[in-house]
Amino acid sequence: MTPAAAYADLAAGDAARRTGFGVAQRRAVLAKLAAEIRARESEIMAALAADLGKPPVEVRISEIIPVLSEIRHTAKHLKRWARPRRVWPTLAMLGTRGTIRPEPKGTVLIIAPWNYPLCLALGPLVSAIAAGNAAVIKPSELAPATSALIAQIVAAALPDDLVRVVEGGVETATELLSQPFDHIFFTGSPAVGRVVMAAAAKTLASVTLELGGKSPVILGPGADLKKAARMVAWGKFQNAGQTCIAPDHVYVPRAVQGAFTDALRAEIARMYGARPQTSASYARLIGAKHFTRLKALLEEAVGQGARLVTGGEAEESARYLAPTVLTDVPGEATLMREEIFGPVLPVIAYDDLETVLAEIAAGEKPLALYLFARDRAVIERVSAATTSGGVGVNVTLAHFLHLNLPFGGVGNSGLGAAHGRWGFAAFSHEKPVLENRFAVLDPLMPPYTKTSARLAKLVQKLTG
Ligand code: NAD
Repeated sequence: MTPAAAYADLAAGDAARRTGFGVAQRRAVLAKLAAEIRARESEIMAALAADLGKPPVEVRISEIIPVLSEIRHTAKHLKRWARPRRVWPTLAMLGTRGTIRPEPKGTVLIIAPWNYPLCLALGPLVSAIAAGNAAVIKPSELAPATSALIAQIVAAALPDDLVRVVEGGVETATELLSQPFDHIFFTGSPAVGRVVMAAAAKTLASVTLELGGKSPVILGPGADLKKAARMVAWGKFQNAGQTCIAPDHVYVPRAVQGAFTDALRAEIARMYGARPQTSASYARLIGAKHFTRLKALLEEAVGQGARLVTGGEAEESARYLAPTVLTDVPGEATLMREEIFGPVLPVIAYDDLETVLAEIAAGEKPLALYLFARDRAVIERVSAATTSGGVGVNVTLAHFLHLNLPFGGVGNSGLGAAHGRWGFAAFSHEKPVLENRFAVLDPLMPPYTKTSARLAKLVQKLTG
């Protein structure tokens, strides 16, 4: 199926879906999707093992549960989200009835990355269907086993006039982007996000961009070092660091840097054993290109004076890079300028929290910012002085799973939000409908008399 045909086939049904695809039908479609995912659990585990060496527990927690819980949450709240909402008239609008009617945008495009290839393709699909849209999904070609499985799941569970999967790489994505989709939901790198937004400018499609960036961790004064080390190690080394909201680097008060890196080393050993390469709990890098990039970043930093605290072992044929911690990484190292997106964690000693906040504020807005602190004043200060897609206090990653919180970036880390009612809103047009009940505007129409001038003045006085 060509990208153009996939778009055209679905778009042909837009008008009929406006009236014929109500909340009950949307829920029924979502229930089928959930049942198919449940039925294919072992295939999902196998595909993610092939693509990323993802341990089954990680597959469940970060691929299956997010999609199934999005479906359950959506099914529970959809009636309320989709209902037309009456609004109060403003003073000048007395005598009217205003309603907001959420309506589907139409036919939408979802482009997914390879790092959580199932969750980041099917999660947005749940919101797209909930809002009443048809969707084309373009999974990542770099996770081929999962891409093929997504195509099978969709073909088996969902009507083909509602959802199509178009597999392929950059060329396919480019062709899809030239179709006049009504919305594009893109998850991937900021660089490709720019390409997507430029393409959307040509068709005036609206966009949601879920991008990445360098998400910092700050250990505040008096943070519990052991607990912080455990959370940071879990958030960083899950999926071998290939997580958009993974801690990218850690700022730690200089006096406790040694104690913190000791705690990190202990946590890594506890999680992955003395030889993480033999651990069933540790994932693999996606491919050779990514391996070479990370190895080069690591070697460059060490060559520039960075100190290896733990890790560094690498085996290309196994796409393996050990959980690695560095200190003394110079600011000019590429590691400190690009999103790392792998299991390498620079720990940076600081003397003054305000300098750290200024440094973060001077850089690109991150997707997540993590703070470990017990003092409320520090929590308030850091939240107020920085901007980021989201903030985790004494926790990493978990805000992704909270469906009553919007998930998304800001600036370089993204545009718009996903999950729960924000996902529904991303794929909806909130259409205002204004009904005139008492001919409110009549006295203000031409010919303009002294009375209409007086009335216009009165309206200004009351409302302006
Ligand atoms: P990527 O931008 O390289 O690719 C994402 C998708 O875009 C893929 O389907 C790919 O085929 C397509 N694509 C690639 N180049 C393209 C082009 N020139 N034109 C059109 N489409 C193109 O990203 P990736 O390497 O798959 O994922 C890693 C990035 O994604 C990281 O930056 C990470 O932080 C980010 N990410 C963000 C989130 C989030 O929720 N905000 C989640 C996961 C990953």
